[in-house]
Amino acid sequence: MASTTENAVIEICELTKKYGSKKAVDNISLSVKRGEVLGFLGPNGAGKSTTMNILTGYISATSGKALVDGTDVLEDPKTVKTKIGYLPENPPLYFDMTVLEYLNFVYELKKVTLSRKKHIEEIMKTVKIDGVADRMIKNLSKGYKQRVGLAQALIGNPEVLILDEPTVGLDPKQIIEIRDVIKVLGKDRTVILSTHILQEVTAVCDRVAIINHGKLIAMDSLKNLSARFGEKGMYLIRALGTKSAVKELLESIEGLKSIRYISSTEPDTVDFKIAFKDGLDLRKRIFEVFASANLPILEFKSLDLTLEEIFIKVTNDENLAQVAAKNNEKGAAEDESNI
Ligand code: ADP
Ligand code: MG
Repeated sequence: MASTTENAVIEICELTKKYGSKKAVDNISLSVKRGEVLGFLGPNGAGKSTTMNILTGYISATSGKALVDGTDVLEDPKTVKTKIGYLPENPPLYFDMTVLEYLNFVYELKKVTLSRKKHIEEIMKTVKIDGVADRMIKNLSKGYKQRVGLAQALIGNPEVLILDEPTVGLDPKQIIEIRDVIKVLGKDRTVILSTHILQEVTAVCDRVAIINHGKLIAMDSLKNLSARFGEKGMYLIRALGTKSAVKELLESIEGLKSIRYISSTEPDTVDFKIAFKDGLDLRKRIFEVFASANLPILEFKSLDLTLEEIFIKVTNDENLAQVAAKNNEKGAAEDESNI
């Protein structure tokens, strides 16, 4: 397997799940490092829950392999369940129990040996439900029910947390609260969370795996994805002045790799796309040069893509072939307008 095996706590290798002739998960391979927070991002029906259900030992795969902390999920789902805290799409709550009764019940179910009272109290504090310990679960708001779901996942102090759409159905305030809790949890645990909400990934994840139609179509940090699918190191600059004056000035600056004119929609201004030579950041210098030449810069922005743009680009079926090609063409050819 890949050389990342050593610090990987989760390894998925060529995993496939078929329902009849339909592939819900189609040959997915990925690994998650210890301590990492990975976002599974994909539209409804992409195969996120199915992948998570296999990883947590709740359903079997048609083929492929999944390891959690070295244990094969398909061979030994029981052991894997003790290593993972799982928050399924619909948390298995018992509505007629109080929060405390329920967490005690889960504690027994999981056959945990940690000091019971202390452990449960700590978890309730972490997910901020200590104030509702004696309330019936059925009387809690959706946001609180979700926290109780998180609490049950934390019983037994598992190192890996798998959270399936943890903020679905919550209001904006509750979403922010749950995200904050997940950020805290992610500090000393490995977390995989699924979502179809782009901001969620930006808000909490170190890396993102984009899944569509059961296939893994991209997996990287947000920064790298943005650079890979966007125009790496490219900036758009809009200045007040003539095309020739701005071009001449840009050409006088050392360290630019390319300069390309684009017409501007704003009167008396010109737009240029520029790129710095590798490793250089000339933004400050450019501002100074333009200011002293009396050609004010009105806009200066990176052309890296937002996650939203990446997502649209990679989940658009027509673009899939291109994406695959782009994945393979490391060290792409230089732009023809390079200087
Ligand atoms: P996601 O969680 O990304 O929304 P799922 O993993 O739930 O996606 O589903 C992936 C695909 O597999 C969907 O097309 C779904 O209809 C199908 N699917 C999921 N579970 C079953 C099942 N038990 N039987 C048949 N098809 C299923
Ligand atoms: Mg799902």
